[in-house]
Amino acid sequence: MVSDWRWDGGRPSLDLVNTYRDRKTGGRELLATPANLAEWLRLAGYPDAQPGAARLRQAVELREAVNDCVTAVINVEPLPTAAVDVVNRWAARRRPALVRLRVRADGAPLVEATPAGDPVVAALAEIAVDAVQLLGTQDRAGLRICGSLDCGQRFADRSQAGRRQWCSMSRCGNRAKARAHRTRSRK
Ligand SMILES: [Zn+2]
Repeated sequence: MVSDWRWDGGRPSLDLVNTYRDRKTGGRELLATPANLAEWLRLAGYPDAQPGAARLRQAVELREAVNDCVTAVINVEPLPTAAVDVVNRWAARRRPALVRLRVRADGAPLVEATPAGDPVVAALAEIAVDAVQLLGTQDRAGLRICGSLDCGQRFADRSQAGRRQWCSMSRCGNRAKARAHRTRSRK
């Protein structure tokens, strides 16, 4: 099982985008099998999701559509309409959880909420809604691509100064600093 997931996108939709790793250097697919997607969804908070091959293809399609939109925003280009359509199609599939009042053995009431329909669809729909809110509001001003030469992870900069450069300080930030230090000491 892959355990190389990263969760520093700052938004669920960006964490999904980052399941295609190393976008600056040709890319590496981490959602290669339905089991990979099931693991990612479980860790993302969707424990009941049991994707098959068709759902995997849909998840990858949604991911690349979100990425196309995010990349367009970062490059100050018009959003690609085909990608917008994919995101909107998934956002439209969001259904409210079914809520009911349950009575425990001791007679006390308890709220029970279950997601409506296929948990994979519910998960992808929620991620698409997150993308809509990220792209359609001023939140998009924080969209960044990691400054590391070989990383390419997308993240939402929510720092006060708005000058966050790396997806993760402990990984890419420190590597970049070490590289700069080596360059300086060679002079
Ligand atoms: Zn990075």
